[in-house]
Amino acid sequence: MNILVLNCGSSSLKFQIIETDLEIIEKNADVQKAKGLVERIGGQSLVSFQATGRPAMKAAVALRDHRAALDYVIRWIISSESQVPGIHSLADIHAVGHRVVHGAEKFTKSVVIDETVIRGIEDCIELAPLHNPANLKGISAAKDVMGPGVPQVAVFDTGFHSTMPETSYLYAIPYQLYRRHKIRRYGFHGTSHRYVAYRYRQLTGKDVESTNIITLHLGNGCSACAIKGGSSLNTSMGLTPLEGLVMGTRGGDLDPSVIEFLSHKEAMSLNEIDALLNKQSGLLGLSGLTNDMRDLLAEESEHQDRRAKLAVDIFCLRVKKYIGAYLAEMGGADAIVFTGGIGENSAEVRRRICAGLEWLGIDIDVAANDKLYGGKEGEMGKANSRVKLFVIPTNEELLIARDTVRSVRNAPRRW
Ligand code: ADP
Repeated sequence: MNILVLNCGSSSLKFQIIETDLEIIEKNADVQKAKGLVERIGGQSLVSFQATGRPAMKAAVALRDHRAALDYVIRWIISSESQVPGIHSLADIHAVGHRVVHGAEKFTKSVVIDETVIRGIEDCIELAPLHNPANLKGISAAKDVMGPGVPQVAVFDTGFHSTMPETSYLYAIPYQLYRRHKIRRYGFHGTSHRYVAYRYRQLTGKDVESTNIITLHLGNGCSACAIKGGSSLNTSMGLTPLEGLVMGTRGGDLDPSVIEFLSHKEAMSLNEIDALLNKQSGLLGLSGLTNDMRDLLAEESEHQDRRAKLAVDIFCLRVKKYIGAYLAEMGGADAIVFTGGIGENSAEVRRRICAGLEWLGIDIDVAANDKLYGGKEGEMGKANSRVKLFVIPTNEELLIARDTVRSVRNAPRRW
């Protein structure tokens, strides 16, 4: 089946076309046929589309909404100009898989989308006011453009973490607030944590039940996940993706009293504080320079910028704290897996996170670590490191395509 994978943001649309099916999954022979991005939907949009192995097509074109953007994408995919193999008409696209950010307690697994599912995703909007409405726009656009006969599947960022026990997901606030409003930790990046755990299992030959690892998704958004017996036991993001690690523009863990203090000292409204914590904090807030790790590392080494170094140090220290916490909680782990833009590419950040953890059995091989970047997959622990260290590039789109096939074919979810 040719699956269109869609990831819709408030003014963006990312897509991939992936050919996969149940027997293809077994052979790990899925084929990525095309990918692309539409940015600044609602105005003069920028598009960048690419059939695998061909030069990218870039253009600026006025696209007023997600429906117009998807219509433009589909026209390109089926045109002879795109050269996407095996796709010449709408009928050659067999299903659509959507990344949906928040499924709350309603959706613990990927589901075929119908009216009830749409209402369920709408019910989760108050928990993800920026993301879920954009995901719903993508779902509605796909129904309009592809027609109601093409099955659509929702794959939730929160889904993988639905196995967390109460001890992980409850906040220590009055229990009735959980009962009344479902205020609890949900966790995000589940598709990424699940995918790298699956790859780890393939690389090591472990079965699901003996997969005991810590996965670190370090990108613009960052989260850690303690995976025990193949399931998410705990993760660093909470009710929203604001909790946990230091991120590009989000500060992660924080004493909640800071909010009240800020409202007095800076006369800020709750909305303004929310924006400050989500968009002006993290690496950007600490450094006063940028949210981009690569640029911070360059500032630090080329100009000895003190605040750039401080931001990177605090980023690494927070990850270290979570590794320690999860090792304690899990009773030890077999491996730590790094993924995401920073985790996959920055040997320096990985080295600084692992430094000084030898006594926990975490012993990095600096030379091996230096060789892992730019999409390479591999191991970087010393041979005698008790906890193995891996870099595994994430591939959320592949997992969404596979879940789409499994949901449409009514096959049980495997990893
Ligand atoms: P998103 O969470 O938006 O998908 P990515 O996973 O692409 O983001 O991660 C983006 C982050 O990865 C940025 O901070 C970027 O600087 C960082 N990054 C990418 N390449 C490198 C590199 N070679 N060294 C350090 N950081 C890098």
